[in-house]
Amino acid sequence: MTRKVADCRNTPSVMNCTLTISGEEEEVVLAATEHAVSVHGHEDTPELRAEVRASLEDEKVPA
Ligand SMILES: [Zn+2]
Repeated sequence: MTRKVADCRNTPSVMNCTLTISGEEEEVVLAATEHAVSVHGHEDTPELRAEVRASLEDEKVPA
């Protein structure tokens, strides 16, 4: 199984946030959405979740 990674450094933001969240896609979408709401002041909307989901990358597993 490939885990997904949400990396705040990839998200243009006024805050220099370096948080990364990894796990199964649904877990990451949930956690990253909650993070965006609580830390970045976003609103929890379907649009935000779609943005979060679109920004996910496959976790790079060291060879
Ligand atoms: Zn962040």
